[in-house]
Amino acid sequence: MIPYEFEYFRAGSVRQALAMLAENPEAKILAGGHSLLPMMKLRLAKPGLLVDIGRLPELRGIEIGDDSVSIGSATTHAELEGSAALKQVAPLFSLAAGVIADPTVRNRGTIGGALMHADPSADWPAVALALGAELEVVGKQGSRRIPVDEFFVGFMSTAVEPDEVLTRIHVPLPTPGRVSYRKFRHPSSGYAVAAAAVAIDVGEDGYASGRIGITGVADTAFRAREGEGLLEGNFTDLRGRVDAIAEAVFADVSPLEDNFADGEYRLQLGKVMLKRALLDVLEQRG
Ligand SMILES: Cc1cc2nc3c(=O)[nH]c(=O)nc-3n(C[C@H](O)[C@H](O)[C@H](O)COP(=O)(O)OP(=O)(O)OC[C@H]3O[C@@H](n4cnc5c(N)ncnc54)[C@H](O)[C@@H]3O)c2cc1C
Repeated sequence: MIPYEFEYFRAGSVRQALAMLAENPEAKILAGGHSLLPMMKLRLAKPGLLVDIGRLPELRGIEIGDDSVSIGSATTHAELEGSAALKQVAPLFSLAAGVIADPTVRNRGTIGGALMHADPSADWPAVALALGAELEVVGKQGSRRIPVDEFFVGFMSTAVEPDEVLTRIHVPLPTPGRVSYRKFRHPSSGYAVAAAAVAIDVGEDGYASGRIGITGVADTAFRAREGEGLLEGNFTDLRGRVDAIAEAVFADVSPLEDNFADGEYRLQLGKVMLKRALLDVLEQRG
């Protein structure tokens, strides 16, 4: 599998990358290359120019502030998996990063690349949805923040313009006290056939509320608002609501189908992953 010919440019800054995108409408950003290069080899993408931002220090790293975590878009899955500081304040990141593909992919692939690629079976979209992240992008008009609920607009498609660069992922702190990520992995790629990210807060009065992100099942990752509505209420009763939540979340979903999992099986796996994630949360100490 050989891609079409293309030019390569390693950007020295985000500003330089933006200038290259503005001058070259056929250009695409390259981060870890673990989604874009396979697409090019399959000839599903044929950018004339790759603008490499993968090694820019300004796009890497994890900054933990008082009221939010800020993650550079070119931070790798492995860096997110391995950060003890991040695990302390937002453990959902290490739970999800640890089940992405294999160490080779985790060492090169980036969270920004995964969010931008918006594969319907990718892991980070579910996590970003469950944690209520904001995605910061820069373009010629300056920078803007996109709430994650508005970020995924369809199959492999985001609200980011072709001449914009995703720079940082912001997650509000504190993150909910009880979290879980449950994933049924495709046996060869490791991508999610179905996965659920759950983040639940329980108030001092025992009232539970939270967010649920689902990936793998539909043509784009989605936030399960019906399920979130049903999970609100007394935490001690949540176990009795788990089945109803899972049924409600997938009731109106049009499932993906492929050689590995037909629609019915995928919906069933989605329900099972969500129930397991909710039961995990019930077992956790608040
Ligand atoms: C064998 C294999 C198994 C995999 N298994 C999984 C899995 O289990 N779970 C999972 O979630 N993923 C999986 N992936 C995908 C992997 O996580 C990729 O690393 C990720 O999807 C893309 O990140 P990247 O940095 O490699 O992006 P790239 O491939 O470099 O880019 C992907 C797309 O995003 C754009 N882009 C990248 N960064 C930016 C930015 N900062 N601003 C604007 N546009 C940008 C690019 O132009 C391109 O269109 C797998 C990949 C492989 C090859």
